[in-house]
Amino acid sequence: MIIELKNNVSAEKAEQLATAIKAFRILSNGKQTLVTGSGVKELPQELTDFTEQFWVFANDIQLASKKYRNDVREVAFGKDIIGGNSGNTVLIGGPCSVESEEQIQSAAELLVKLGLNTLRGGCYKPRTSPYSFQGLGLEGLKLLAKMREKYGLNVITEARDATHIDEIIEYTDIIQVGAKAMYDQGILRACAKTNKPVLIKRGFGTTLQEFVQAAEFVLSGGNENVVLCERGIRTFETGTRFTLDLCGVAWLQEHTNLPIILDPSHAMGYAYGVPSLAKACVAMGVDGLLIETHPNPKFAKSDASQQLNYDEFERLFETLKPLANVLGRKMI
Ligand code: PEP
Ligand code: MN
Repeated sequence: MIIELKNNVSAEKAEQLATAIKAFRILSNGKQTLVTGSGVKELPQELTDFTEQFWVFANDIQLASKKYRNDVREVAFGKDIIGGNSGNTVLIGGPCSVESEEQIQSAAELLVKLGLNTLRGGCYKPRTSPYSFQGLGLEGLKLLAKMREKYGLNVITEARDATHIDEIIEYTDIIQVGAKAMYDQGILRACAKTNKPVLIKRGFGTTLQEFVQAAEFVLSGGNENVVLCERGIRTFETGTRFTLDLCGVAWLQEHTNLPIILDPSHAMGYAYGVPSLAKACVAMGVDGLLIETHPNPKFAKSDASQQLNYDEFERLFETLKPLANVLGRKMI
């Protein structure tokens, strides 16, 4: 249950009530709000005099649900807005991993040339083998911060561990929680304590319910700035790396109030398929895309087969731009 308290309820009283009914107390939509599990179906008696309105839910998709908020939340991506009435489709570009200053600078310059604003680059890579490149860590974060400073770009990078959150907040604008990390409640709770936007990727074996519940960990902890990212799920098919779940995206658009970003790069796993998938994603009217690009994909230290080279990325962007415009959206 979500309970919006009356404006005249003091913070102390709200805290008392929250403790009495074992609820989260957060500021949601500018209002003092208490949140309990969805098992609570009737307004607790002690709340009657203090409640403005309340919502009852069939399951634990609550703060993220369309039933609670019938719009799409606005989330600030650095200096840009996505969701809400912004009409923006953010194209997040950059390499899988930050590998060197020269490499990340070339990606930053590509984005600037195309008039795009958001640069990605992993510094703590969640690799499936301990012998693979694990990322540059703090050194990589400093390079991202340098690009942010030099080019005015918003930067996003992933947290592999809750202990990375403070560093990531210091050097970047948006925290990415990866497909393998999205069940990590230490990371989710640490993200909840910040007010930075959090992009949560769907695990490849994660149901939509579990996916949105991961977002609920961040929302109920007090951070309203959550974005969902579909990046492909594992099916019986082995010809592609994963299967981009566009049905799932339609479900999320129908049932949740969170901006949605699609990642065709990790879903496909091969550069050749990324452009056509990206067009399908834009056609769905989503809030953004995440596309990996590298100056020389063959030599990339991670995800070499799926990264577009800069010519391919530029050509794709030129195709996507008018497509977004037809839908009344703008690529940023
Ligand atoms: C990535 O964005 O480079 C990444 C590791 O993605 P995912 O968590 O979706 O596998
Ligand atoms: Mn990658």
